[in-house]
Amino acid sequence: MSVDTSARTVMERCEILASYSEEPDRLTRRFATRAMQQVNETVMAWMHAAGMTVEQDNIGNLIGRYEASHAGAKTLLLGSHLDTVRDAGKYDGPLGVMVALACVERLFARQKRLPFAIEVLAFADEEGLRYNNAYLGSKFMTGTLDPKVLHLTDTKGITMAEAIRSFGGNPDPDTLQIARWRQDELLGYCEVHIEQGPVLEARNLPVGVVTAISGQNRLSVSFTGEAGHAGTVPMSLRHDALCAAAEFVLSVETLAGSLPGVVATVGQVTVQPGASNVIPGKVVLSLDVRHQDNAVRELASDQLEELAREICDTRGVSLGWQLLQEHKTIPCAPGLTRLLEQAIEEMGYPLLSLPSGAGHDGVTLSELTNIAMLFVRCRDGISHNPAESVTVEDVDVALNVLERFVLLYSV
Ligand SMILES: [Zn+2]
Repeated sequence: MSVDTSARTVMERCEILASYSEEPDRLTRRFATRAMQQVNETVMAWMHAAGMTVEQDNIGNLIGRYEASHAGAKTLLLGSHLDTVRDAGKYDGPLGVMVALACVERLFARQKRLPFAIEVLAFADEEGLRYNNAYLGSKFMTGTLDPKVLHLTDTKGITMAEAIRSFGGNPDPDTLQIARWRQDELLGYCEVHIEQGPVLEARNLPVGVVTAISGQNRLSVSFTGEAGHAGTVPMSLRHDALCAAAEFVLSVETLAGSLPGVVATVGQVTVQPGASNVIPGKVVLSLDVRHQDNAVRELASDQLEELAREICDTRGVSLGWQLLQEHKTIPCAPGLTRLLEQAIEEMGYPLLSLPSGAGHDGVTLSELTNIAMLFVRCRDGISHNPAESVTVEDVDVALNVLERFVLLYSV
């Protein structure tokens, strides 16, 4: 199958954007840095050339606007983010902006105007690397950014307010809670993003439609036993906190594996006192539980707590169970999603619907408008890693689907 030149352009542009980094040997592009300024200038020029008016807002988001066929029309939002994690790949974020831009370029090349405007959004921060606070860009645009974050400092002690100012923005706390759009001005938000997981590759499909951005529970779980001498306390008299925690970690794996779609992870473990000749007295571990159905996620979380209690009771260890964060599932809008599905079907590809286990800007945008997402296959499901890889053929499919989606919306 031949690949359109615009898909090749998308790939070339992702390469160009990846060359703008804060670090010489790897790709790291944090909020409000020189590297962000460089990508913004570059993308701005491409947006202008595609017939868009371009604006950089007060915290550094880019908005390229392609006007509708008539005045007063509503706006369809497309886009993704241009910031990266540390030692990032080239596609997480920039691919979605470049595909949206290419979609508008195709319309502009045919001098085609739609009964609605398109705004291509390039968020200044989604990953939250610099201030450890995710979705800054989309929160600002939707008027949901807490003014308190302006006082957060980065690792060099630079406050967010200072960073915004030196980026040419205006960190006025009074404007932070004003959304860029009124709800009734918008038709929805659609984002193209790499899958960041292995499902599409396993099914041998270029793209998939996202059903929802899965909710998640983040917990801190502690096991308190009794520290003691590794040489003198007999095995039968121990209350080893690490043995209890270890049993729990394996039951997390077993239980999540028995509930379809549930993913649960223990990613951090601290052992106290942490000496080779001392029986562990206390263990604190992190627990992350996700599922696209809130009820299933809560059920899984409850069952895990029950298991932990049973393990602790048997072992004479006490349990601490603390919910740190709970994010509800954000469903994708059925109407928009149906158009993506129709576009994929028309192109002759089998349909695959899948939840997003990772968070995306759609979480924030959903407070203002309907959202939809299209996932693109990535090699080995690898992401947040320089080995991130997509093929030009798959990008071609994603671009065709997005263009078709936009045209279907307009009829
Ligand atoms: Zn991303």
